[in-house]
Amino acid sequence: MSEHREHDDGKGREKGPHRVGQVKEVTSLANPIVKDIKALAQKKTRDETRTFIAEGLKLVIDALELGWTIRTLVYAKAAKGKSQVEQVAARTFAKGGLVLEVSEKVMSAITRRDNPQMVIGVFEQRYRPLKELRPGRGETYVALDRVRDPGNLGTIIRTADAAGASGVILVGDTTDPFSLETVRATMGSVFAVPVTKTSLADFLRWKKDAGVQVVATHLAGAVDYRTIDYAKKPVVLLMGNEQAGIPDELAREADALARIPQAGRADSLNLAIATGIMLFEARRHLLSLEASE
Ligand code: SAM
Repeated sequence: MSEHREHDDGKGREKGPHRVGQVKEVTSLANPIVKDIKALAQKKTRDETRTFIAEGLKLVIDALELGWTIRTLVYAKAAKGKSQVEQVAARTFAKGGLVLEVSEKVMSAITRRDNPQMVIGVFEQRYRPLKELRPGRGETYVALDRVRDPGNLGTIIRTADAAGASGVILVGDTTDPFSLETVRATMGSVFAVPVTKTSLADFLRWKKDAGVQVVATHLAGAVDYRTIDYAKKPVVLLMGNEQAGIPDELAREADALARIPQAGRADSLNLAIATGIMLFEARRHLLSLEASE
């Protein structure tokens, strides 16, 4: 890491010119760079800058390893000198990024937490365009119809990763996969699972030519989810909105309407739980088929 350091003067004004490869020490919440990073808590700013925050040294290392572009690395004073932090800082500089060393107060303000992580990274957002999705044999995707809850979306991305799914497709107006809450809930899988964003009309158009079977999950589904042939064609598991479920016009377009039989008094399963059950059923089916070939 560069030996050069520069300081702010406590009022957000920098002393000395900014040079590439310099760690910038910041203690003031009024610092304009800190203000910009804090603003990434708002979707509007994330959309405008096409960046987002990932918290934790492990996540930042994983992201860099997977080729994501870092714009700014921020670490707490207490993490100074740790060899992994130094390495990540060097990689950030090598990519032309900025490195900030901040007080714990600044770190708490950025992450909105009392016990913040020691390291955060500001990364460029990345979506995989729908037209690039060409599902092949044995592949499984999850499509989410207007998912609203950040915790659900993050958990689904994490579960899709663990189940070996090839991607998550966000259909219609959904919660932001790059919000602090969603990224936290993904536990790093946001960097491993390609996410696609599309309208309902484009999704239906894509589905016609993609050679996939869309298995929609529905409380009134005619088919028990365990009886579906998940190996027949690449699978898209279509999951409904938390409140409304899958609308009729979308259900009509599905190749199968699958139901997870329930016991007890609960009306339905939580969306992320239902997605996990479907993903691992498809995986179990595909793995047992592979073993028998
Ligand atoms: N009130 C909504 C409805 O009538 O569909 C409940 C939606 S549920 C909380 C969210 C999504 O999880 C559903 O749209 C469906 O995709 C999936 N889901 C939950 N429980 C399910 C079950 N027992 N069988 C199939 N899908 C289920």
